[in-house]
Amino acid sequence: MDRLPVLVIGSGISGLTTALTLAEAGQPVVIAAKTPWSESNSGLAQGGVAAALSPGDHPRLHAEDTLRVTRGLADPTRVDILTSQAASAVQPFIQSRVLALGPDGAPKFSQEAGHQRARIVHARDGLTGRALMGHLIRKAQSYSSIHWLDGKVVGLAAENHQAEGAYYRSPAGDLDYLAATAVVLASGGMAGLYATSSNPDSTSGDGLILAYLAGATLADLEFVQFHPTVLATKGPGRRLLLTEALRGLGAHLLNAAGERILKGHPDQELAPRDVVAQAVFSQQPVYLSMQHLPSDDVYRRFSGLVQQLSECGWDLARDHIPVTAGAHFSMGGVVTDSVGRTDVARLFAVGEVAMVGVHGANRLASNSLLEGLVYGKRAAQAILTDHARLTPRKPLARPAMTVRPEYWTVPSRLPSLLDQHLGVIRDQDGLQRLEQALQGMQACHATLLIQMMVSSAMARQESRGAHMRRDYPEASAQFAGHFYHQQDHGRIFRPISQPSAISPLPIP
Ligand SMILES: Cc1cc2nc3c(=O)[nH]c(=O)nc-3n(C[C@H](O)[C@H](O)[C@H](O)COP(=O)(O)OP(=O)(O)OC[C@H]3O[C@@H](n4cnc5c(N)ncnc54)[C@H](O)[C@@H]3O)c2cc1C
Repeated sequence: MDRLPVLVIGSGISGLTTALTLAEAGQPVVIAAKTPWSESNSGLAQGGVAAALSPGDHPRLHAEDTLRVTRGLADPTRVDILTSQAASAVQPFIQSRVLALGPDGAPKFSQEAGHQRARIVHARDGLTGRALMGHLIRKAQSYSSIHWLDGKVVGLAAENHQAEGAYYRSPAGDLDYLAATAVVLASGGMAGLYATSSNPDSTSGDGLILAYLAGATLADLEFVQFHPTVLATKGPGRRLLLTEALRGLGAHLLNAAGERILKGHPDQELAPRDVVAQAVFSQQPVYLSMQHLPSDDVYRRFSGLVQQLSECGWDLARDHIPVTAGAHFSMGGVVTDSVGRTDVARLFAVGEVAMVGVHGANRLASNSLLEGLVYGKRAAQAILTDHARLTPRKPLARPAMTVRPEYWTVPSRLPSLLDQHLGVIRDQDGLQRLEQALQGMQACHATLLIQMMVSSAMARQESRGAHMRRDYPEASAQFAGHFYHQQDHGRIFRPISQPSAISPLPIP
């Protein structure tokens, strides 16, 4: 490689989108990933991608839904970008027939909670992530300017607030260094740290810690979204998600007596995700049932999930399937501007690791794959624009850095403590217990991240969006704003009425 590459950390939808946009413009790219793409959250996505494409729909209506569900904390400008660029982001997948099409050649749309229109496009078998990712991976593999690096990034080199490269550990355990013209974090969220989660264990917030230690700002860490229907098992199928689209088709959620747990809510099973998650969490055991629906429809529309469940001994169309609320999505992340720049020069963040301002206190269903597509591309375009000024300083000496492998080990007690005290329903007493437990653990990257989450969760003395504070059941205007974390300044609160802390440094 003659020119220094852009290093993209992560091979999920956001990393691949960024890498492909760069490669199409002739920019060499290295994609570093610690897991195969099929094990990323992107590869596991089951619902679909939201885009205002159906007759009578409009990006403005999609933006309205997003702003309503995100409970005052999403940035309207960034949401407009997301919804108005959605159509062009999904068109290539429609043209390539990766997504399910009707006989007229137009995409098939399904309905999900929080959307006023049926606007979710999905793959034929419902395993949308696998279909989108398979397509993107094949495309990326056709570029000789994209190099693949199997390894876990364990440290960013960022001197004087400028990212210059990264340290990674190869599968053989060697520590190596890669110099880069820009570094893009596309490393996903942190919901896999919870014991009950739809995410794989590897979704452990690495990028949040890498960015924080490099001097970047994090925000909204207290906002974790819980999915109401994760298969309730400790055996095979642990962490398997039963997509919201099942409820879109009419699935019921039943208590042990066979009564619908949401019959009192006007939207019933299609109530907002936080409402359903809280009901499922507090009324355990809860079962998802599709027995009243034509089984042929269920088998046809969800053939992928039907297969996955049958391998665990369940029949989706005929059984009452036990479900529970599990950690699903991190709304917070590394603070960026509208093109993924962080406040460390040459360091970008895209996808779930980023806090670009479109998910607020509660992500709207099917907006995150879309975020990866839209904002992944925007970051690449900004890198290409900034390129002349991104030429790195010479000489590119490998910076000295101590990487302590033990810091990457998650304490075994932590996941169940997160379930207990930092879940969909929380209170001061539980948060304090978690804080005390953290003090008794060996300090590591995961404990540092959770300390920041607990600190914001304690300070947010209200119920807003994805979680409910038992001791502060209402939303409070006092907390209409974001908690930021920065190494030099600790925790800072900024009301939405003030300019946000999103202040990328000028590229030198
Ligand atoms: C079961 C499930 C179903 C979902 N369904 C939907 C849906 O239908 N629609 C929707 O919009 N959203 C859905 N989501 C959410 C959505 O899938 C994710 O938000 C999105 O895929 C995140 O993409 P990403 O590219 O940011 O990160 P990810 O897809 O999580 O990829 C992260 C990448 O970073 C790599 N990585 C992490 N740390 C390191 C490190 N230290 N060094 C090197 N590499 C690293 C990983 O190996 C991986 O390649 C779902 C999520 C789950 C878990």
